[in-house]
Amino acid sequence: MVIIMLGAPGTGKGTVGKLLSEELGIVHISSGEIFRSYAKKHDKLGEQIENYISNGLLVPDELAIQIVEKRLEEPDVKNGVILDGFPRTRNQAIVLDYILKLQRKMVDVAVELDLPDDDIVDRIVKRRTCINKNCREIYNLDFRPPKKEGICDKCGGPLVQRIDDNEETVRKRLKTYHETSEGLINYYKRENILYTVKMNNESNTTTKDVAIEIRDYLQNR
Ligand SMILES: [Zn+2]
Repeated sequence: MVIIMLGAPGTGKGTVGKLLSEELGIVHISSGEIFRSYAKKHDKLGEQIENYISNGLLVPDELAIQIVEKRLEEPDVKNGVILDGFPRTRNQAIVLDYILKLQRKMVDVAVELDLPDDDIVDRIVKRRTCINKNCREIYNLDFRPPKKEGICDKCGGPLVQRIDDNEETVRKRLKTYHETSEGLINYYKRENILYTVKMNNESNTTTKDVAIEIRDYLQNR
């Protein structure tokens, strides 16, 4: 089974993807994580990736595709995969379909987490991150407060609001996300494999509830 996770930054997409991978017993691949691990390699590809990441740029399609393709050939993907962060554009989705076809696979479902922008902004400005670079645990003052104010439950490190977690930056990120993802979402809609989870901050839906809703949908489809 191949599942694509779609959703703006701040929807909890990464966490839901990980929980869903545990529920289904299939591997969760975050493109951000594989790019970062490649960037540490001292080969030509690694150096190129490092260059984009350290300058805060998006990894271009050509390189992103090469890396994802390599990752999809690894044995742990055999039973299925949840892809998070790739494809990011309609073009990447077309290439992914082609790569999968060569492996006699196809995308089964694209799951879109749909949370209104105002709710996302509200979540992100209330986000607190552990400054311990080996931990980096993320909390939310409303949804997941630390047991002791300002202190990480996991490692005892101090919690801070990251510079990027302010309304202006978040609105900019959301604008970029909507511009690039529109074509992608429409692509999967037309393929008839889009499953949208409507979310909002008022309902008490946790990432766990969302993961279970998606699991049930996949198993009863
Ligand atoms: Zn910590």
